[in-house]
Amino acid sequence: MRKKIVAGNWKMNLTQTEGQKLTSEIVNMIKDESTQDVTVVLNPPFVHLQAVKKLIEGVNNIYLGAQNCSDKASGAYTGEISASMLASFGVSYVIIGHSERREYFGETNSMLTDKVKLALENGLTPIFCCGEPLDIRENGTHAAYVTNQLSESLFGLEEQDIKRLVIAYEPIWAIGTGKTASSDQAQEMHATIREHLASKYGKEIAENMSILYGGSCKPDNAKDIFSKPDVDGGLIGGASLKSRDFTDIVTSF
Ligand code: PEP
Repeated sequence: MRKKIVAGNWKMNLTQTEGQKLTSEIVNMIKDESTQDVTVVLNPPFVHLQAVKKLIEGVNNIYLGAQNCSDKASGAYTGEISASMLASFGVSYVIIGHSERREYFGETNSMLTDKVKLALENGLTPIFCCGEPLDIRENGTHAAYVTNQLSESLFGLEEQDIKRLVIAYEPIWAIGTGKTASSDQAQEMHATIREHLASKYGKEIAENMSILYGGSCKPDNAKDIFSKPDVDGGLIGGASLKSRDFTDIVTSF
């Protein structure tokens, strides 16, 4: 059985007080609603991890996640946060290769391989993001583009490692734009990603990996998107900043 996962990516938003308020509301709503079979991950900015960790303590289906980690293990890299620091702090998940990091911070497929390896070595679960920009979608080469991202960053991993990853398919043209992929477009790409993983690692491993959709996922479209057979949940940006919206997405399965 694949895990159903809904992860909230707060990006660079919210003060500590606002983050605490949001987390408390989510914790209360999630406790009240029947969401036990859904793994919920909160990915606040690094400086809010401590506050969020305290508030989710004792809630057994909410996990702490980070938005990034360094591609270096340790050393003179001012301003960076390593995978081992996150692990030692009690972080369980880490988003790797978000399109904003690829675009604004020059993260390359090979740099992402190093991040994934360090995350795995330290016992973190990487949420590995892939997805095509608009021009690639429009010229019809999106499947090749995304499968190439996966091959270049991940296909050097051993079987026992790849199966510990969560994949997030996030078409860049749908992120923060209000323009979501249709559920059929999401399903088509998720199936393509799963087939691609199966071609390298076999059907059993691919069938057991969770593939999340991300890109303007909201309460009013989550049910439809999550109903597709290869969609195992969502990576949620904007809507993860509103407790009611986020919880409604969690209960959309
Ligand atoms: C994201 O940035 O991962 C994301 C999916 O953002 P949004 O939901 O706002 O499109």
